[in-house]
Amino acid sequence: MNEADFAALVTATKETLQRVADQFAPAVFASSLAAEDMVLTDMILRGKLQDKISIFTLETGRLHAETLAVLDRIKETYDYDVTPYRPQPEAVEAYIKQNGLNAFYESVEMRKECCRIRKVEPLNRALKGNRSWITGQRRAQSTTRAALDVQEQDEAHDMIKFNPLADWSEEDVWHYIRSNNVPYNTLHDKGFPSIGCEPCTRAIQPGEDVRAGRWWWENPESKECGLHVVDGKLIRIKPVATNA
Ligand code: SF4
Repeated sequence: MNEADFAALVTATKETLQRVADQFAPAVFASSLAAEDMVLTDMILRGKLQDKISIFTLETGRLHAETLAVLDRIKETYDYDVTPYRPQPEAVEAYIKQNGLNAFYESVEMRKECCRIRKVEPLNRALKGNRSWITGQRRAQSTTRAALDVQEQDEAHDMIKFNPLADWSEEDVWHYIRSNNVPYNTLHDKGFPSIGCEPCTRAIQPGEDVRAGRWWWENPESKECGLHVVDGKLIRIKPVATNA
């Protein structure tokens, strides 16, 4: 992509965020603290949209130290405290007592139950009371995200969901980060293009799919954590007009 096209992409993305702030607040941005999310964090905080779009992360209790360190980098750089949403302690305890700490390796069902407790339930709490939510998902990230639109109707949560980076490539993300000196998760320098919980994420080899290091023991079709899935199926998403 040449510089003019990249500048147009950045402008369009900032306009999407401004539109969310103007027309769909209160809004929340669900940040996984990965590279894509740092692009949006930078745009939201430098654009002074935080009063309309607050930022939270799902602090699952199983994140890498490098991921948690990003919270400090955001505080240092933007003087902003990302809100951590944590799982219900009693639900975590019951899962571990019944199944073991790392039972998610045993089956897709066990893995989804762990994700439900540590991610889905806290996400539902974080979204409550908001009109829209924002993710850093990109269409090119995986087979499960190929149909992603910038603006969608999230029927599961009955709210509007924005994916402002839907059209961005991985190269665009890194171009923005380098040109704007945006802080990022140092795991990206160690072979982790996609970052999740520590026991469920590993580094990948050059040429492998970007999400190959997530739940690597499962089939590609099952590789979502449930944040965009209901009853084991991808949420039926309706694209809606972006000038609404
Ligand atoms: S990614 Fe792994 S550790 Fe994290 S919630 Fe899902 S199954 Fe549990």
